[in-house]
Amino acid sequence: MADNASQAKLGLLDRLARGPVICAEGYLFACEQRGYLQAGAYVPEVVLEHPEVVRQLHREFVHAGSDVVEAFTYYAHREKLRIIGKEHLLEPMNRRALAIAREVAAESGALLAGDICNTNVFVPDDASRQAVRAMFEEQVGWAGEAGVDYIIAETFSYAEEALIALDVVKQAGLPAVVTLSIHQQSQTREGWTPEEACRRLEAAGADVVGLNCARGPRTMLPLLKAIRDAVTGHVAALPVPYRTHEKEPTFQSLRDPECPYIPDGRPFPTALDPFTCNRYEIAQFGREAHALGIDYLGVCCGAGPHHIRSLAEALGRTPPASRYSADMSKHAFLGTDPSLKQEYRDYAPHL
Ligand SMILES: [Zn+2]
Repeated sequence: MADNASQAKLGLLDRLARGPVICAEGYLFACEQRGYLQAGAYVPEVVLEHPEVVRQLHREFVHAGSDVVEAFTYYAHREKLRIIGKEHLLEPMNRRALAIAREVAAESGALLAGDICNTNVFVPDDASRQAVRAMFEEQVGWAGEAGVDYIIAETFSYAEEALIALDVVKQAGLPAVVTLSIHQQSQTREGWTPEEACRRLEAAGADVVGLNCARGPRTMLPLLKAIRDAVTGHVAALPVPYRTHEKEPTFQSLRDPECPYIPDGRPFPTALDPFTCNRYEIAQFGREAHALGIDYLGVCCGAGPHHIRSLAEALGRTPPASRYSADMSKHAFLGTDPSLKQEYRDYAPHL
């Protein structure tokens, strides 16, 4: 018989029926910044080499308000393992990532999500359709055996590849959150508008459709509004926390004229620091997206736990990390507490 915690645990769709769900993403960037994953190939070997880093990151995101522990199987697929000559690690890497995530989900009561993504081998021909389907089937199979609550299928720029991923998830009998990454042209690579692609994904059985990665809040929101108007079900929004804008709408397209030292001149992916959104910008994004009727919210590559906490608080939550949310009233110079030394408060304008 299940214990009380697991009896009480609601699935994704039950939770969405009660209110928004928050999902922290961005594990590739988070592990790269910590020095446990290489930018470029971007293969999550960290789950085998330093599982404690991934476990701690899951815990930090849940502590900050994530309702979901997303197994770090992003890019743990056959094509990526082939590039680094380690296809033999494919199954152990997936099973280990799922086991780590499952452990944190179980201890916290968070949802456990499996994860599949763009294969980087899809082109619209029959050979690649078969190849990517096989890649999805093996990963979804391992996720199913690990007992995931649902599968995230993410960062697809070909909607057709997302539809194949969705079909594999539905065949496995699991709920599916399917999110597209929309690059500079504001359309999928086959030329569909994001709203048309999401409408077709919803019609094909996706439980949640929307966008993640590539775009920051400012350039993702207009696309989300069109998606919200085009579909009837749940909509997902997980931007990158970077200040993208109309002329440079994706984090890959951002340029930094202030800094001549960046190898190859492109800030993506290792020199994006000066473009990072602060927590208040992410909170504002959360409020605006929620007001549009978007109820599956998160932050992708570049997200830190402080972003997730601000997003959670913007939705009226008080996650455990809120215990440490800023209170400047007791700051030695900038505070207002009457016990503070007046000479220090008077010096505040000179800081
Ligand atoms: Zn991302």
